[in-house]
Amino acid sequence: MAEPEKPKKKPKKKLDLNRVKMPKQEPAIRRRNFNEVALGYTHEMALKEASRCIQCKKRPCQAGCPVNIDIPEFVEAIKEDNLPKALEILKRKTSLPGICGRVCPQETQCEMKCTLNQKGAPIAIGRLERYVADWERAQGEVKIPEIAPSTGKNVAVVGSGPAGLTVASELAKLGHKVDLFEALHVAGGVLVYGIPEFRLPKDIVQGEVDYVQKLGVELHLDTVIGINMTLDELLNGKYDAVFLGTGAGLPRFLGVPGENLNMIYSANEFLTRTNLMKAYLYPEYATPLKMGRRVAVIGGGNVAMDAARCAVRLGAEEVHVIYRRSREEMPARAEEVENAEEEEIQFHFLTTPIGFLADGRNNVCAMELLKMQLGEPDESGRRRPVPIEGSEYIMDIDTVVVSLGTSPNPLIPNTTPDLEVTRWGTVVADEKGKTSKARVWAGGDIVTGGATVISAMGAGKIAAQAMHEYLTS
Ligand SMILES: Cc1cc2nc3c(=O)[nH]c(=O)nc-3n(C[C@H](O)[C@H](O)[C@H](O)COP(=O)(O)OP(=O)(O)OC[C@H]3O[C@@H](n4cnc5c(N)ncnc54)[C@H](O)[C@@H]3O)c2cc1C
Repeated sequence: MAEPEKPKKKPKKKLDLNRVKMPKQEPAIRRRNFNEVALGYTHEMALKEASRCIQCKKRPCQAGCPVNIDIPEFVEAIKEDNLPKALEILKRKTSLPGICGRVCPQETQCEMKCTLNQKGAPIAIGRLERYVADWERAQGEVKIPEIAPSTGKNVAVVGSGPAGLTVASELAKLGHKVDLFEALHVAGGVLVYGIPEFRLPKDIVQGEVDYVQKLGVELHLDTVIGINMTLDELLNGKYDAVFLGTGAGLPRFLGVPGENLNMIYSANEFLTRTNLMKAYLYPEYATPLKMGRRVAVIGGGNVAMDAARCAVRLGAEEVHVIYRRSREEMPARAEEVENAEEEEIQFHFLTTPIGFLADGRNNVCAMELLKMQLGEPDESGRRRPVPIEGSEYIMDIDTVVVSLGTSPNPLIPNTTPDLEVTRWGTVVADEKGKTSKARVWAGGDIVTGGATVISAMGAGKIAAQAMHEYLTS
């Protein structure tokens, strides 16, 4: 009798270790315009990239996402060419996918945890998220989820950055009446006044703000809490609870001689003029931005990269980034550093300014730099830069942008004596965002200091849930 045939093993899927490249504007062309650099996946590209996902059981990518998006499911839905389903899965956990897909530091979060990252390139989760969000926009109709019946409670949300927008949308969906107060004439926080058009087009941010308004949130622009109204006035008025999401917009400086010279900007001023006030379209828009030929940007974060890349587009002949640690320690997203290098920005690592020199008319004309070396790790875990004695040298420059991080604006704490703050000026809040003051929650950069869009959204989600529990208990 013939032996029974052994069951054949299912052939293992061969791993595809290379991700589908994102098409970008050529560096020589994009150096002269503010249009978006990364052009987004086509339908075929998105399907091909999604099909690389091996759908591993442990789902490490999801654990790496601060808002816990069901990543394997939405990627699988793209692979099946079911984009409405992919969108529905994304929207369960994020109301800002078009923004997160563009600016989240995926390489240190979900993509870092991707199983494929151990052998080759991780799944391009951010690019796929962006693809789905852009597909929804292209349909011309954004689906509004079901809104719970009115609870009769009123909530004030202060600040319309990612933290405030998240809290406002979550609470509106739960049936609360939400008023969103914003100091500027446009909503969106850093997404509109900081991050440039070429990285995050403003119509995408506006689309997300429109969505929040369609949920029933009432937006009050040009309203500074702490000036037009105090926090106590909100609480003593019609509001049952308040969320503070006012970010960290106060710039830090080096504190070295000559820092007050003309043509030395804080990154906040430089980027706000460029992006919010559209100085790059001057004189069509009324705000000018005076800039020289040789620009130095001090710092190594996303803000520094944005300032340097704006300077290139505004016509600088040379742009130099001065950073006191080495490339490995740079906090900027790897993709943006790469983009900056492609745009011929010159990097000077292990270097710090120790003074600025004037041209006789109070304009900066040069800076004195000092070389550094890396010592022992500091409290951030990064190796501490240590000065190399006698290594001073002079570099000619005519414009400087200082980008050393920010802290929260003290306006609200100064007008609210019983709101506890740390010695760094951040508002003290527990893990659910509850502050020291009754009926007040806070989240985002105002609590953590300058961080990320997704961490601000994550804090907003947690605080919204806690506020809802309070409002309905
Ligand atoms: C140039 C730049 C580039 C960045 N790039 C990235 C990136 O690529 N990826 C990333 O993840 N993160 C990036 N970040 C960080 C990220 O944008 C922030 O962590 C995030 O926006 C914080 O959100 P938020 O809601 O806490 O505050 P914000 O976005 O700062 O919003 C706060 C809002 O509150 C308003 N406000 C302040 N005070 C008052 C008041 N008293 N009354 C009423 N309104 C008030 C402000 O006008 C502002 O609109 C970048 C930051 C900057 C500055």
